[in-house]
Amino acid sequence: MLKKSFFGLSRPQIEYELLPARIPEPDRVVPSKKVTLFHSKNGNQNAPISFQAGDKVKTGQKISLFADDPTYVISSVTGTISSISPHLGDFGKTYNAITISIDDNEELDDQFKKQVQNPDLAGAIDYLSFLPGNPNLSALSDPETKIHTIVITGADSDLLIGTNQSIIISRLDAIKKGIAILRDISGIENIILITAGESMQGYGHIGARVKNIGTGYPAALPQLIMKNVLGEVVPAGKTCTEQGVCFLTAEAAASIGTAFGDGQIPVRKTLTLVTKDGNQRLIETVIGTPIRDILDSYGVTLNEEDRIIFGGPMVGTAVYSLDHPVLPDTDGIVVIDRSDAAYASDYPCINCGDCVRACPAQIQVHMLVRFLEAGQYEEAADNYDLFSCIECGLCSFVCVSKIPIFQYIRLAKYELGRAEASAAMEETTAAEETTETTEGTEATDA
Ligand code: SF4
Ligand code: SF4
Repeated sequence: MLKKSFFGLSRPQIEYELLPARIPEPDRVVPSKKVTLFHSKNGNQNAPISFQAGDKVKTGQKISLFADDPTYVISSVTGTISSISPHLGDFGKTYNAITISIDDNEELDDQFKKQVQNPDLAGAIDYLSFLPGNPNLSALSDPETKIHTIVITGADSDLLIGTNQSIIISRLDAIKKGIAILRDISGIENIILITAGESMQGYGHIGARVKNIGTGYPAALPQLIMKNVLGEVVPAGKTCTEQGVCFLTAEAAASIGTAFGDGQIPVRKTLTLVTKDGNQRLIETVIGTPIRDILDSYGVTLNEEDRIIFGGPMVGTAVYSLDHPVLPDTDGIVVIDRSDAAYASDYPCINCGDCVRACPAQIQVHMLVRFLEAGQYEEAADNYDLFSCIECGLCSFVCVSKIPIFQYIRLAKYELGRAEASAAMEETTAAEETTETTEGTEATDA
């Protein structure tokens, strides 16, 4: 079994684009009539429901759909819930889509205000997990992960996206406050701020060690930051969190700072919009704004087979409805004309080796892809390092046969994860049944 750790030599040929030191304010895009918030379906769906259509909500109000449900969304507007419906996301993730019709008059919810006087981690997890930047605050309290380092990334991980770079340029005070709060509530001293490009001036009093990464793609992916900045290799199949390192975006850190500074939960998301002509714009809109409203603001029209990508061009995911809302982690929206879209093909691999040369994890991608195409995921994992993949998308980008290698990789990881979860569940059920039988026998004997 080959379970090689990731230690590859990166040979980047594509450069991240750096923003200038001075940038204009982001454009404000206001949702026209409604917003939609995706509430994850992790809680007990049979518990009594706490919100329903017709209920009024305020801006910044926490909405947890079921009693005792630890998951929640934060209303980004003031209005009336008009519908709650199931939504199927990528790779079978299920959500309740909560649509809110916007009122003319905004009212701010003040529940978070009481947290500001005595900040603590439980309160932050309770109110700030749906912040712009989607911070994984729960990881900080998970006894299994034992986080010892927080990495705040001011470098955007995909190409053409400048969202977190812009936050570093424009909201340094909020980031500084966020870092102080994070240190205070987590007790973690080792906090590192990652910046893109050469400039490290002006960060002297930020309260974190500042480290710069190179501009060659994919230097801003967490596994490469772990290796190049922290000098730690993430073993195949493990996450950075499992290695004790929690990654947060600069926007998440700034949002935490703003939340504790103002006593209000921020609901405005900064993102980079890339239109079909290649123009990049920084925009600010509330979480839940439908893409339609953003495209309408810029007069962007879509023709059949044009594509909308959430994230960035290398590792983003396509969305198929103009009603799809901006999510807390939507750093970029890329609109691609059908003539520029990279189409997948069913041509066979010609063994050119370009994918192997491009792969920063030094995976034998040309061999891996043969097993993935055949649906032999376990063999791909055991023999060809599926879990060493750091998901940069370079193999798909360079493949002359246009094989959707990256999509195959994501699907294989998802399917193996599902199989593992289902095996674990069967094991738990079997163990519970054995316990019940034993208890029953003991009771009868007694
Ligand atoms: S996405 Fe492709 S190129 Fe990138 S690490 Fe994975 S296998 Fe290698
Ligand atoms: S780049 Fe594509 S065609 Fe070339 S070896 Fe890799 S999978 Fe095969």
